[in-house]
Amino acid sequence: MTNFQNLKTVRAGEIFIRQGDPGKSAYIVESGQVEIFIDKPNAPPQFLGTRGPGTLIGEMALIDDDKRTANVRAIEDCNLIEITREDFNRRLNNTDAVMQMVMRVLMTRYRDTLFRSEIVRESLGWPPPEEVERKLMQETKTIDNLRLEGEFKAALTNGQLSLNYQPIVSLDDGRILGFEALMRWNHPEKGFISPAVFIPMAEETGLIIEASKWALRESCRALKRMESHVGQNPNLYMSVNFSAKDFAEESFLDDLYQIISVSDVVPTQIQLEITEGLLMSQPENAKLTLEMCRKAGLKIAIDDFGTGYSSLSYLHTYPIDTLKIDQSFVRDMLKNKVSMELVKSIITLGKNLGMMITAEGVEQKEEGLILRDLGCENAQGYYFAKPMPEKQATELLLQLNGFKEKLA
Ligand code: C2E
Ligand code: CA
Ligand code: CA
Repeated sequence: MTNFQNLKTVRAGEIFIRQGDPGKSAYIVESGQVEIFIDKPNAPPQFLGTRGPGTLIGEMALIDDDKRTANVRAIEDCNLIEITREDFNRRLNNTDAVMQMVMRVLMTRYRDTLFRSEIVRESLGWPPPEEVERKLMQETKTIDNLRLEGEFKAALTNGQLSLNYQPIVSLDDGRILGFEALMRWNHPEKGFISPAVFIPMAEETGLIIEASKWALRESCRALKRMESHVGQNPNLYMSVNFSAKDFAEESFLDDLYQIISVSDVVPTQIQLEITEGLLMSQPENAKLTLEMCRKAGLKIAIDDFGTGYSSLSYLHTYPIDTLKIDQSFVRDMLKNKVSMELVKSIITLGKNLGMMITAEGVEQKEEGLILRDLGCENAQGYYFAKPMPEKQATELLLQLNGFKEKLA
């Protein structure tokens, strides 16, 4: 384990928490996967589960000096953030009084749960250790999410959030048609946190509603600023992600209209990206909302299309402009026949329903060319450009030919 202040790197295979050792620190898994297992006398080790980025492990060490109750091994090279008890107490003492109180109550309950389970286990042989561990994991997640939630709430108001823009490219001539706005969170201590970590938390806690409004407002402003450099272009659009929670919010449409009208962008310059999951989870509400959006002139795209196991018979009943083929199919299409067939079917389906197709995750020229031959109009992916800050996106727009040479 290499150690640079509180950042640690552990190699695949290394056991960095050992059952029976005194616990000195907890760790946040920043990247990589770890597995948790317990040694049992006269029996093979018992596997309790794996944990990935964003989870807290070994957290009992923050509460008391007890011995570790399980082993933790890195199954990939991992980056960890170490939190010592001292560290933790210092931070806790520095947060506001309410957070301090809530954390102390949670920690006491947490320890009591463990204590109780151990007594019960010793006297009755129940619950089994895996049950205890499962409970602990749940509580770990809770503490973990609470921490992240508090920090994200702060991030929403103190400028830690930003947007990156990824070009959406015409496969016909390489022109940049628009950008997908993708949220970035630059945490003052932890650096950039992946949207794969904070977006699900924001959706779960409802914080996504504020975050989405912020993203829409910021995308509209960015579009205006871009136009101030490259000239007005009513065909240039911003594609903004929205979640089921946003759609379920009563004031969603009002907020949407308000933000767009204040920003002075033309509604046709905004595309909403939603998932199939959203359509399936609230079919009636989604339909009404989307119809209102369409009436207002907004564009609608279905994100990650093909991953939602949805019935296709409903699709034509929604006002959808674009299907975005999920990147997993594009990634595999050259080596996997089934993926290629799926890509073809989605393109045919979209065409039959009068929708545009955007392929996501295009990383190679060959993919782009084949997709074009199959009739897919637009593409987005690292082959053309990664998501980038506004300044670079604006510079790209100033290059007249866009990505023409990349498709030659
Ligand atoms: P998504 O909406 O499917 O966005 C596309 C993701 O694919 C982005 O990841 C983008 O960086 C990545 N990507 C683009 N081209 C390629 C490629 O060629 N290869 C590979 N491997 N990846 C590529 P990112 O920015 O990490 O975002 C992950 C997810 O987080 C997004 O997936 C979206 O579901 C969510 N997200 C990001 N920003 C927002 C937001 O503002 N609001 C909401 N609700 N969700 C967001
Ligand atoms: Ca998207
Ligand atoms: Ca997607």
